Amino acid sequence: MLTQNLGYPRIGSQRQLKKASEQFWAGKIGHQELNELAIAIQEENWQTQLDAGVDLIPCNDFSFYDHVLDTSLLLGVIPERYSPLLSNLTPDKERNLYFAMARGYQKDGLDITAMEMTKWLDTNYHYLVPEFRADQEFSIFSQQLFAVFDRAKARLGEKAKPVLPGPVTYLLLGKEKEPGFERIDLINKLVPVYVKIIQRLKEQGAVWIQLDEPALVLDLSPKEQEAFTYAYTTIAKEVDGEKLLVATYFEGLGPNTQLALTLPVQALHIDLVRAPEQLDEVLALIPDRLHLSLGLVDGRNVWKNDYERSLELIQRAARQLGTDRLLLAPSCSLLHSPIDLDLETGLDEEVKNWMAFAKQKLWELRDLKQIAAGEEAPLLANKRAIESRRSSQKVHRQEVKDRVAAITETDTRRKSTFSVRQQLQHERFQLPLFPTTTIGSFPQTDDIRGLRARLKKGELSEEEYQAAIEQATIEAIRWQEEIGLDVLVHGEFERNDMVEYFGEQLDGFLFTKNGWVQSYGSRCVKPPVIYGDVSRPADMTVGWATFAAAQTEKPMKGMLTGPVTILQWSFVRDDQPREQTTQQIALAIRDEVAALEQAGIGIIQIDEAAIREGLPLRKAKQASYLNWAVQAFRIAASAVQDQTQIHTHMCYSEFNDIIEHIAAMDADVITIETSRSQTELLEAFADFKYPNEIGPGVYDIHSPRVPGVQEMVSLLKKAASLLPVRHLWVNPDCGLKTRKWPETKAALVNMITAARQAREEIGPSI
Ligand code: GLN
Ligand code: ZN
Repeated sequence: MLTQNLGYPRIGSQRQLKKASEQFWAGKIGHQELNELAIAIQEENWQTQLDAGVDLIPCNDFSFYDHVLDTSLLLGVIPERYSPLLSNLTPDKERNLYFAMARGYQKDGLDITAMEMTKWLDTNYHYLVPEFRADQEFSIFSQQLFAVFDRAKARLGEKAKPVLPGPVTYLLLGKEKEPGFERIDLINKLVPVYVKIIQRLKEQGAVWIQLDEPALVLDLSPKEQEAFTYAYTTIAKEVDGEKLLVATYFEGLGPNTQLALTLPVQALHIDLVRAPEQLDEVLALIPDRLHLSLGLVDGRNVWKNDYERSLELIQRAARQLGTDRLLLAPSCSLLHSPIDLDLETGLDEEVKNWMAFAKQKLWELRDLKQIAAGEEAPLLANKRAIESRRSSQKVHRQEVKDRVAAITETDTRRKSTFSVRQQLQHERFQLPLFPTTTIGSFPQTDDIRGLRARLKKGELSEEEYQAAIEQATIEAIRWQEEIGLDVLVHGEFERNDMVEYFGEQLDGFLFTKNGWVQSYGSRCVKPPVIYGDVSRPADMTVGWATFAAAQTEKPMKGMLTGPVTILQWSFVRDDQPREQTTQQIALAIRDEVAALEQAGIGIIQIDEAAIREGLPLRKAKQASYLNWAVQAFRIAASAVQDQTQIHTHMCYSEFNDIIEHIAAMDADVITIETSRSQTELLEAFADFKYPNEIGPGVYDIHSPRVPGVQEMVSLLKKAASLLPVRHLWVNPDCGLKTRKWPETKAALVNMITAARQAREEIGPSI
């Protein structure tokens, strides 16, 4: 029985890569320094895995920015617009080209946009989307892969296992950049290049080669299924004696089980954390030649593995396959977990004993191998930790569980229907047609962030910090009044992050010092950890909301983050269904909503920025997710009087397929991101006859560009032609915290002018 890892975090345990890349981009360090740092991280990662006794160690899993982009460069999939950067390519220039593709290029009179970025399946990791043309050619373009493998081979010998995205997944994750073809049809041209790559790696001495094909867990069309068979049959025919491992993760193989098992490869990796039930399906059909890699250790979470449960899975597989054909592995690449729990010196020891980060997960593999071979000691220690978590008072709070158990249908329903509420709310707030508002945050300037840093260092007292934030809030309110916004916000200056701010005030959450995970390029996030039953010991936002409301006669929105978004952007418990954790958070938010209402706040926004991204990969599982996600929002939103107006906000404009669920949230007003496909989105809402009020973002806050008045007026006219005018709000498409003040001010002044013009031109006619 061998152990293998599928991928290791590449940012470095102290986020060295982030720091070095940012210095490199700022021109403060050169190519050589950046390269040396990259090599040092790889060496350290390999050593960590050697120390833990991992038998097959991934190499080529390091990336300066993103591994899908690395693959595009390897295969010569370089969009036309970068051709000015292609001449006389030295290795340094190749790296410049690479960063240009990742981040855009504005130098030497050139202005080239970056490639589009999107989420890697259902993770919060973003990759650069390959761009394909109808006449797309592939070739071995970059030699990086082979150079790195040489180094890995010298260091790790036969343990060195090159890793790259498989051909079908690579195509499916990309996009057609012109009409008239389907990218999956490019498989015929792509596979010969993969054959060459695999042959070269073999010549260099690779034994096992890992091809990641998470597309095998998606709903595949017949053509896509055929592409799999074609690709791997061809590779098997052309290369002999290779040991190919196809890795799948994030879901079970489901209807693709048979397909995956007939691919003529030597090993298949399956994710038994997300989909333990697939083990029996796979064992029932597995051919004799195939090795099976069991994904036992959760690569997406921070909890210790339950060895007893893993052992049961190992034994079940071993009974049928024998131990020689088994590999033990994390469920997926460890890219998605924080790096080293040993660095967390501030955690409660009891809770820390329940956790494992990437490095600790490698040692878990070693333990599992030993336990499978009959050793008892690691199993006993693990049992104690698992048992302590199962029964700890820190985790289990009976009153929280009781309250969740007592949730009824009535708790998820507003008192009256929307039309009744709408009438009462219109009477209460007396807003004009096309009311204007913003999504919540105003620019988090260096000054504002600096305040928090100084408070942390003790250079600022709590009172001084408070006073400075009050000042910023007052200024923002004065300014909103001046330009004539209708519904004001306090600006969220007191918040570091929209989830962390709430997590810090709720029971059941903990925060790490170094638990960073790569989100994209040099950007890392440090998600909170939900370890126990969630409850709300005290008001969280009422102080700031009432302070802000007292500064103005205008309506002031209270701002909350919704339960699904808090869940989605945290590491969550694995000892109860996500649904249940979400309900606990929903009750806490419900109490905060009630407290805000009690304090006189008449409009309350509950952001569900992340509801769309929690959507399961498989269609068959989506309805159930959407049902509990929507229910959680409704629990949070429904405790108020009819006159209280509930807003929600969502990022990402791809709602077309889930619009009935968005409507089922029954928010009085929804504001949404529409920057990419305004018309398409509005049509979806119109076709569905979306019943409640809606603020389609009239400008894209993700760019510093200031939109013109006419541009926004025409968007409003378009919206008014599709949706009832009384239902329309006017707002930017997301929070403004990443923007600078000058462009924010200019854009909002234009937005208000546009709303006024729309009232004059469209308003009177209805
Ligand atoms: N209220 C939050 C803000 O304005 C919403 C952010 C988001 O949607 N991501 O920043
Ligand atoms: Zn948003």
